Amino acid sequence: MTVDLAAIRHNVQEEMQRLAGKSALFAVVKADGYGHGAVAVAQACQQAGATGFCVALLDEALELRAAHFTEPILVLGITPPEQAAIAAANDVSLTFGSLSWLTAAAEDLQARTNTPLKVHIALDTGMGRIGFRNAADLRDAADYLAAHQDLFLTEGVFTHFATADEKDTTYFQQQAQKFNGLVAVLPKKPRYVHVSNSATSLWHAACNGNMIRFGVALYGLNPSGRGIPELPYPLQPALSLTSELTFVKQIHAGDAVSYGATYKAQGDEWIGTVPLGYADGWLRRLQGFHVLVNGVPCEIVGRICMDQFMIRLPENTPVGTTVTLVGSDHGETISMQDVADYSHTIHYELCCILTQRLPRRYINR
Ligand SMILES: *Cc1c(COP(=O)(O)O)cnc(C)c1O
Repeated sequence: MTVDLAAIRHNVQEEMQRLAGKSALFAVVKADGYGHGAVAVAQACQQAGATGFCVALLDEALELRAAHFTEPILVLGITPPEQAAIAAANDVSLTFGSLSWLTAAAEDLQARTNTPLKVHIALDTGMGRIGFRNAADLRDAADYLAAHQDLFLTEGVFTHFATADEKDTTYFQQQAQKFNGLVAVLPKKPRYVHVSNSATSLWHAACNGNMIRFGVALYGLNPSGRGIPELPYPLQPALSLTSELTFVKQIHAGDAVSYGATYKAQGDEWIGTVPLGYADGWLRRLQGFHVLVNGVPCEIVGRICMDQFMIRLPENTPVGTTVTLVGSDHGETISMQDVADYSHTIHYELCCILTQRLPRRYINR
């Protein structure tokens, strides 16, 4: 796996220019930087001027702290309240969406630390995942926070959109309205009021608030897949995936390839073996898809194995020849979106499931 850090810097810089200082940009580097490597990605985002980072888990935040990042870090998921003191001690901001979480966290903080915990209030305006859903519950929590300022510093309030990447904005507008109604319940606006994932910032920047949570687009991927092709600037994909032929042979009519012997040669065929399989995150259902060899699309024939798969070559090709699974070769390109389309999923999922067995190489540091 090759990750072009210049592409990440470009995507972040373009977005920061659009924000024109009106909103801070927090780079979302959860799930090991969407599979790209959290620390290297965070460094690139830092160089490009990102204000802070978002992750999903406290452990992911601590990984960044261990790598000496001093920017604000927000954990977007619900952390066990008995880890509140660890978060506070490491200056990590946590998300909560219920009064019971606050009271449980307060116990841990009182027992273990003198440092107040920075918290962001999650509002569930229609995502149906985490957060306060009505004004009464939110008011109770706000009262509790006001009475316990020695334990909690209310740093943010936010929501998450379910349909920001869709052309029809009806549901989006409903969520935005509900958010404004709920925020109005708070006695005072916290430092960060934020609603925007990549899709919201790219296509609904008017409601950005003063901070955005910029995720998939920083990796150069269109959040809508092919849904909304229009972008305010071209995104540069950072990730490419290449391998090389480890074995090449000629087979003849009727000869089979791979488990189940599901593929049979029609005549004389050159077959190349690629040392990568589903244990690397190259899905079994990519059988029948193609890779590039010298710019020529070559079909994946037979079942994909755990560690290897086979392709049909147009001609005898030397062992060691580069095989491009994702990326460009001689002017031909296979995008993550192409792979996602063929395997009936989204590029987000494909990036995250590329496993640690794949060596990551970083270029343009
Ligand atoms: C993952 C996540 C993001 C980033 O979303 P992208 O679509 O990758 O930009 C933003 N906010 C929350 C709450 C998330 O969970």
